[in-house]
Amino acid sequence: MNTMTEPESKGKRNLNFIEQIVEDDLKAGKNGGRLQTRFPPEPNGYLHIGHAKAICMDFGVAEKFGGVCNLRFDDTNPQKEDTEYVEAIKEDIQWLGFQWGHIYHASDYFQQLWDFAVRLIKEGKAYVDEQTSEQIAQQKGTPTQPGVASPYRDRPVEENLALFEKMNSGEVPEGAMVLRAKIDMANPNMHFRDPVMYRIINKRHHRTGDKWRAYPMYDFAHGQSDYFEGVTHSICTLEFVPHRPLYDYFIDELKEGKDLDDNRPRQYEFNRLNLTYTVMSKRKLLALVQEHLVSGWDDPRMPTICGLRRRGYSPEAVRKFIDMIGYTKFDALNDYAMLEAAAREDLNARALRVSAVLHPVKLIVTNYPEGKTEEMVTVNNPERPEDGTHTLTFSRELWMEREDFMEDAPKKFFRMVPGKEVRLKNAYIVKCTGCKKSADGTVEEIYCEYDPASRSGLEGANRKVKGTLHWLSVGHSVPAEVRLYDRLFSVENPSADERDFRELLNPASLQVLTDCYVEKFAVEQQDNRYLQFQRIGYFTYDKDFTPEHPVFNRTVSLKDNSKR
Ligand code: ATP
Ligand code: MG
Repeated sequence: MNTMTEPESKGKRNLNFIEQIVEDDLKAGKNGGRLQTRFPPEPNGYLHIGHAKAICMDFGVAEKFGGVCNLRFDDTNPQKEDTEYVEAIKEDIQWLGFQWGHIYHASDYFQQLWDFAVRLIKEGKAYVDEQTSEQIAQQKGTPTQPGVASPYRDRPVEENLALFEKMNSGEVPEGAMVLRAKIDMANPNMHFRDPVMYRIINKRHHRTGDKWRAYPMYDFAHGQSDYFEGVTHSICTLEFVPHRPLYDYFIDELKEGKDLDDNRPRQYEFNRLNLTYTVMSKRKLLALVQEHLVSGWDDPRMPTICGLRRRGYSPEAVRKFIDMIGYTKFDALNDYAMLEAAAREDLNARALRVSAVLHPVKLIVTNYPEGKTEEMVTVNNPERPEDGTHTLTFSRELWMEREDFMEDAPKKFFRMVPGKEVRLKNAYIVKCTGCKKSADGTVEEIYCEYDPASRSGLEGANRKVKGTLHWLSVGHSVPAEVRLYDRLFSVENPSADERDFRELLNPASLQVLTDCYVEKFAVEQQDNRYLQFQRIGYFTYDKDFTPEHPVFNRTVSLKDNSKR
């Protein structure tokens, strides 16, 4: 029995390891009792579900402990960055339900970083290397073997200063020079072997224009940006663990012993999200978009936030999934089926139940009067009685699913079978009397007779019939296009596969059904984004939807069929 009250159960027991660190730091009065985090996307692509995990951490911990989380665009590489991405990132964060304190840009610190680099040069702690990146890589050594010093390592300060200026002048081609920190070519941590601080990129920056040609590397920008802003907890993913000593090194240099109260950012790492049957690398996602292997960043098969949104996921479902997988210090591969399970749980509670027939075949109720109609009451959401009901028109000519009929059925097939009874949902019990077939054996029409006394809700209407089928009235339903999605990749872990990721795409990941029918009511409910097509699955309106040409996306099937 759980006797804990709500606030208690939400408290200490449920903290993840980073929240625990934050709580301890706040209790110990570190950073003057301040809590400041940041979410630092590079605006070189759209956010994906992996970023959602980082967002839930960065914003979530600030929210939980009364701190602030800022949004910082890590825009240090103008080659791949664009304002289109900036806008999309903001939209996606807000959609997930978070709000930043400030918006910052790493590019706002280009001058400060430059000045800091100049200071390090003057102190003999940085130098301009004119070797190629291949040569520099060859000299790095291995974790057990020390590296080799660059021939430019000891060039005079004045020469370094002049060359660093030149790197930024636009007259030096990309790759001809880099600025390196002069630290330790024998350090067991490879990141200390004179890491590159600046490289030349002869591209216009979307914010700073042509002012800069020398751009700082991640390791020379990230920690300092955190420091300039007053970040206390710089939370990132595990691959940055080996970068942490360098992160601290540059901050130590920057502080020069200032701030003796030790008010400084510290880096903490959690496991990144990897999901089966998809890829999370922005480079690969961008390739899928650019090579038209998907319809765009928001293709409903993409693991992007906008793709999930278009697919019909709610922000709550995404956050529920992130909660389910949790935060650890060990990398893992999470099952895509868990994301779908989170969506089902969420949609079961919120989806509006409507009727749709995806593979229609005509069902004629031969003893039902021609021209007669009846309005059958149907519950909007059995999980939420307060959502009320709507009605569905019944008539003599109906649509039913082709797969719900079998002429020669096995015993366990409790659907439409000649000679057997079945219930039409919220309507009548009918007895199938046969069908009409074309020359090639295709069933063209199915016939049945209804029992007028069996109407749902009537006294004595509920005699036992095993199956209940959904249906639509031919004269009262709307043609629609329905898009069914499956996994984007056909292998469990495309990132670990030797083959090119393009070869691993699931050729059956999109199935477009063009002759479906939905009830009129469904087409009129666009302010409710979340639908259940009864007996079929959860669906949403696609952005291509118009009342004249309704288009629906399947978010997820009703049950997990992956293990069939
Ligand atoms: P790229 O694929 O270009 O290397 P990235 O995925 O690292 O980019 P960023 O924009 O640099 O993208 O990421 C912003 C933040 O999101 C970083 O703090 C990063 O650690 C986090 N993040 C990125 N991918 C994941 C993931 N799969 N799981 C959890 N966090 C992630
Ligand atoms: Mg990155």
